[in-house]
Amino acid sequence: CVGTCKCYECFGGVDCSQVIHSCVIDLDHGDPTMFEEFWFRHEVSSITVILGYQRMSYFAQSKHVWFMENELELQIRALHEVVGNAVTEGRHIVVGTGSTQLFQATLYALTSPDQPKPTNIVSAAPFYSSYPAVTDYLRSALFKWVGDAAKFSLGVEREEPYIEMVCSPNNPDGRIQHAIVNGTGHVVHDLAYYWPHYTPITEAADHDIMLFTLSKSTGHAGTRIGWAILKDEKVAKKMMKFVELNTIGVSHDSQVRATQIVKSVVQGYAYSSASNLGIETQTLSSRSLSEHVDNNKLFHFGASVMHYRWRRLRDSLSGSSEFSIPEFQPSYCNFFQKQVNHAPAFAWLRCRKVVDCEAFLKENRIISRSGRHFGVGTEYVRLSMLERNQKFEMLLSRLARIDSSRTPD
Ligand code: PMP
Repeated sequence: CVGTCKCYECFGGVDCSQVIHSCVIDLDHGDPTMFEEFWFRHEVSSITVILGYQRMSYFAQSKHVWFMENELELQIRALHEVVGNAVTEGRHIVVGTGSTQLFQATLYALTSPDQPKPTNIVSAAPFYSSYPAVTDYLRSALFKWVGDAAKFSLGVEREEPYIEMVCSPNNPDGRIQHAIVNGTGHVVHDLAYYWPHYTPITEAADHDIMLFTLSKSTGHAGTRIGWAILKDEKVAKKMMKFVELNTIGVSHDSQVRATQIVKSVVQGYAYSSASNLGIETQTLSSRSLSEHVDNNKLFHFGASVMHYRWRRLRDSLSGSSEFSIPEFQPSYCNFFQKQVNHAPAFAWLRCRKVVDCEAFLKENRIISRSGRHFGVGTEYVRLSMLERNQKFEMLLSRLARIDSSRTPD
């Protein structure tokens, strides 16, 4: 698009190839635009055409959930089979408008209007910043945000009804998490990042309630499709009721698109086993790496980009007097069939010298999200690692410039 195109943030000129060095780089959201490169190469297998008369009804031709496209359910089950990250056999699957809607559906399903007090909602700090915001925005009488699960487990409220959100790998810090309250409450596992791009797949997760999203698996955040895998039919039915009350089902157009996208990922792995291709991240550059790995394998592409980025970030921050990032131990990944490092979707950065890390980065034209949104101190910030290549490169050069321009202690 020459002349008329809207350039990506930080790019200008008639063909958008000019880097605007003075621009502010926004890494506040985990917008998964790094996956565009993969889908750009898979235009044909991922295309969706919906004719004017198709998918007009509120209802789907569904076997189980009245608003869920049958084929989407089949492809989701096939995807988990390929990746081995969750048990789906004998489980119920409910689709939602992003896993954000399903988070709210679980709160609705696991609480009751007959309770004398709102149910306590907790998660170990640092917790995903949407949990408090989404729990409390309607001031529900059914549930209320209480905060850090570690603190909750030490108090007397521990005896009251509660729901613990376990996000693993965790947003924002990438850590593998388990329930910590260990009382009689419900546990919801948010497995948005339990995909081989980000973390070794160590087992097929088999929890009562598991939430997944297309946003972080294939990168199609704009399609707004998430799914819950559930053991209990009663919980599944109540979650479906929530989706009915909230949005009268889920966009069928989006479900058709999601079906095609997931199908294309599954087909990418149909003819050879994942183990044939290790992730060789030691010597190749980002571009040659993503070209080197088999073109049709989404998780190989995702892992190669993420591992490359993490290595670059670690290299550029090694010996930094300004910033530190978490360390992780590699684990054996059943999907790649080898030891694999963690490569989280976010960099959880700690400023060593300044109290307000978000403000400090903003002065340096980097927008991040402060630790205070995640229930911890302002010396922490979260930065997205999922942006397009150019933006990631700009982040690295700015962090390096900050470090070199400030005198060591
Ligand atoms: N859970 C976690 C941990 C997330 O990071 C996100 C997206 N930022 C979501 C859920 C919501 O995803 P969706 O786009 O499907 O609503």
